[in-house]
Amino acid sequence: MRYIGDIYRPPSEAYSLLIQVTIGCSHNKCTFCTMFKEKQFRVRDLRDVIVDLEMARRAYNRADKIFLCDGDALCLSNKKLLIILDKISELFPECKRVGVYGSAKDVLRKTPEELEELKEHGIGIIYLGAESGSQRVLEAIKKNVTVQEQIDAVRKGEAAGIPMSVTFISGLAGKAGWQEHARETGKMISQMNASYVSLLTLMLDSRAEIMEEINSGALELLSGEEVLAETYLLLENSNPEKSCVFRSNHASNYISLRGNLPEDRDRMLAELKLAMENTGMLKDERFRML
Ligand code: SF4
Repeated sequence: MRYIGDIYRPPSEAYSLLIQVTIGCSHNKCTFCTMFKEKQFRVRDLRDVIVDLEMARRAYNRADKIFLCDGDALCLSNKKLLIILDKISELFPECKRVGVYGSAKDVLRKTPEELEELKEHGIGIIYLGAESGSQRVLEAIKKNVTVQEQIDAVRKGEAAGIPMSVTFISGLAGKAGWQEHARETGKMISQMNASYVSLLTLMLDSRAEIMEEINSGALELLSGEEVLAETYLLLENSNPEKSCVFRSNHASNYISLRGNLPEDRDRMLAELKLAMENTGMLKDERFRML
């Protein structure tokens, strides 16, 4: 396949056919993120996307899931997305789900009818990096979105029948802000009613802008034990009305948690408590990765 620069995809798209629709991220300013720093954002020529799909059809016998890269491919107009989705239906009739990264603003820009149209044409999941439910943290990391916009976007996607997979980052507010980050993120999880919630743990590239705050001492990173305390508080405050799958089993996490919220919350809290009392259970720093 033809890819421009490094390619990123959510862990649950590990076996998906990856098709690059945009180059980079349209925002590209979050202080902790270096994924697309070397890329100048642009939308790929649709003809190239179609050629990639045709090449993939010749190369692979099956593609049960397809993921549209890069950053927020959902920023494309429906007109362009439908051309891609219809080509996927034509070439890959076996494809059960097309996934895409989308920002809250991308979702909010679309009408409910446009989101339903995307669902009808194959979009089966939108991955939204919310990072925190704290407005203060969102401003500190230059996310350029409000907590309420993120909640509205998740509810809007779900109302259109598209499962929303929302990611938050442990440790993002450092020692001074972890309690607020945990409480407010728990509140957001309770209010947004996403189908999926994932919790990663902060890992940084030395080129990330946030390193300036860390190097100056303005932001103090959490230890593994403190990350667990933060996750505990976050889960205590997470009580969604609609059951959601909660995963904190990414390579960056110190311990692996998985269950449904709110049903499995007490079991996951007990697992966390056990790890907090037996810190030898935490993943060694050498084995954490993005
Ligand atoms: S975290 Fe997401 S929105 Fe922010 S710069 Fe990175 S890819 Fe773009």
